[in-house]
Amino acid sequence: MTAKNILPVLTILIMAFSCTNNQPKTDTVDQFDFKISEETKNETIRALMEKHSDINSFRIEKGVNQVAALWQDQDGDVNEFKTFCLDNFLSDSSELELAYNKIERNFEIIFGLYNSMTIKLMEPLHLDMGEIHHIDNIMGAYSPSSHLTEDLFVNKMAFYIALNFPAYSLTDKAKKAEKWTRKDWAYARLGDMFISRVPADILQDVSIASTNADTYIADYNIYMGNLINEKMEQIFPKDLVLITHWGLRDELKSNYNAENGLEKQRMIYSVMLNIVKQTIPSEVINSGDYLWNPNTAKLYKDGKEQSFSAEPYTRYEHLLHNFKALSAMDKYNPVYPTYIERAYDESMELTRAEIETLFIEFITSPQIAEVAKLIKQRLGRDLEPFDIWYDGFKTRTNINEEELNRITRRRYPSPAAFENDMPRMLIDLGWTREKANYIANKISVDPARGAGHAWGAEMKGENAHLRTRVPSTGMDYKAYNIATHELGHNVEQTITLYDIDYYLLRGVPNTAFTEAIAFLFQANDLKLLGQSAPTNKEETQAYAALDNCWSAFEIMGVSLLDMYVWQWMYENPDASPKELQQAVEKIAVEVWNLYYYPVFGVKDSPILAIYSHMITSPLYLANYPVGHLIEFQIEQYVKDKQFADEITRMLLQGQIIPQEWMKGAVGSEISGRPTLQAVEKALKIIK
Ligand SMILES: [Zn+2]
Repeated sequence: MTAKNILPVLTILIMAFSCTNNQPKTDTVDQFDFKISEETKNETIRALMEKHSDINSFRIEKGVNQVAALWQDQDGDVNEFKTFCLDNFLSDSSELELAYNKIERNFEIIFGLYNSMTIKLMEPLHLDMGEIHHIDNIMGAYSPSSHLTEDLFVNKMAFYIALNFPAYSLTDKAKKAEKWTRKDWAYARLGDMFISRVPADILQDVSIASTNADTYIADYNIYMGNLINEKMEQIFPKDLVLITHWGLRDELKSNYNAENGLEKQRMIYSVMLNIVKQTIPSEVINSGDYLWNPNTAKLYKDGKEQSFSAEPYTRYEHLLHNFKALSAMDKYNPVYPTYIERAYDESMELTRAEIETLFIEFITSPQIAEVAKLIKQRLGRDLEPFDIWYDGFKTRTNINEEELNRITRRRYPSPAAFENDMPRMLIDLGWTREKANYIANKISVDPARGAGHAWGAEMKGENAHLRTRVPSTGMDYKAYNIATHELGHNVEQTITLYDIDYYLLRGVPNTAFTEAIAFLFQANDLKLLGQSAPTNKEETQAYAALDNCWSAFEIMGVSLLDMYVWQWMYENPDASPKELQQAVEKIAVEVWNLYYYPVFGVKDSPILAIYSHMITSPLYLANYPVGHLIEFQIEQYVKDKQFADEITRMLLQGQIIPQEWMKGAVGSEISGRPTLQAVEKALKIIK
């Protein structure tokens, strides 16, 4: 929801990487090459082996190779490289432990204070502190830690870590997980910190490609009032302007059960196909100068048909730019040498193969066909491809919001009142009085400007912040509901910072986990108010399961397409935008015919290619369905157990890899099975 989750340490470092602009201008792509030859590396390894025993051979080889991959001109010549390695390699395990402890302490100070500084600098923007001044905007956008990574290369701390703490790929981590101790995990997280050093101008290209793609999509609006059918009728409101694809999709969703709904939906679908195929006239993008019939591909002005030029594959040009910029980073990333690996293995910490299997298993499960049958019956017609966005499983709550508003306004006249009530809420959720006070004492509730968010601390001794908006009339139910969600974030942030055994393992594996915990708290909002849950709980849950299943089915297909398109680009790096368009359409139709045609009964739709994320946020899409599965699994597991104990137990695993976290938390890896089982139950309730 609206939470502003504080970035885990690795993300901070990655951000610091991407903000490093202070490298000398000579560091251009063409001039950059690796300074340390194979020969030098081998000599250094041999010298280290002589100095230390054989038992260290794995660490020596790994360490020297890691330092060599990061070493650049300004770091010193070949002899300095060798001397650095010989002087700084730690062979003794107690020396290594001492080094880890010292580094951990220093990083907690650095990340903790940078985080506090950012929180304070942004207060005029986030809190109700009067009119926002120009200076507040400038300093709010200032990132104090942006040069940290380069500083750590300059003082050689980054090399020291790379030399002594091996970086393991996700596959290695998964293989070793069973044998690893908590200390091994902490060392591995330290090893993850300096695994690439991408030249500033390449990072600059990535940022330019990404900004351009964002701008392209942000300015891609369709003037719906200018769309006409065969009878030259304008069936949408005259002033309706919608952005691709979110606006188009949401309008399509809102037309189930609306007057003329089906005709409107078909017209929106037709617009989408024109965008995917790039047959859309350039004249109608972001402009209301012409009337356009997307079905017949005819353009009109003043009642006369006009000639037009189709969009010149611009959509795919942006995708290609992103591909070129991101793949240019490959050779500076020895652990994850393709963007595909960086997006899945490094960022999500799930392999491409794991995600592919998970999604295909889900979308080919027999329950999907049953849900489709139910939708068909509810619609009273055959399914059409755009019914991937069927919206009819949303339920209206039967709670009396006015009554709830009265209760929350009385109970929470100010943020301080909410803060004072937090220990009681935590006790009601099952924490002991002592523990509830301990956690609540580490969370400050501040008056927010916006809807609110949760911002965690990054060092012990600092508080997490729960931001909520309380008008002078008191907190209304909606704000209270959001505040309970944010409280979930803050509790997670606090437990995983204060009670974790190793600082570098604080947090959870990724945002899907942090959201799952927050939603679990939010689901208890009525209970915490002393109100009973809605009467038709079983039916509400059944609808939620069906809705969850159908939206997962939709977005998993889109994510698979994204995955296959990136594979195609890696196989065809010199493709033209037109060739890429053809490939995307072909792959979209293949995915459709394999997994959606059997359910919909309609062949050859390329609709899965309409998502804007594919253009603006390369390979990000898979995060959504994976997040939903994780959330559902945790929810189902916690449902009939002691809430506080289970949550605490899960959280104290910290930031290990997602599959291991899930095994520890719910006893199995990430899976669609709990969702599908809930769907089976739901199908018996909803007819
Ligand atoms: Zn959230």
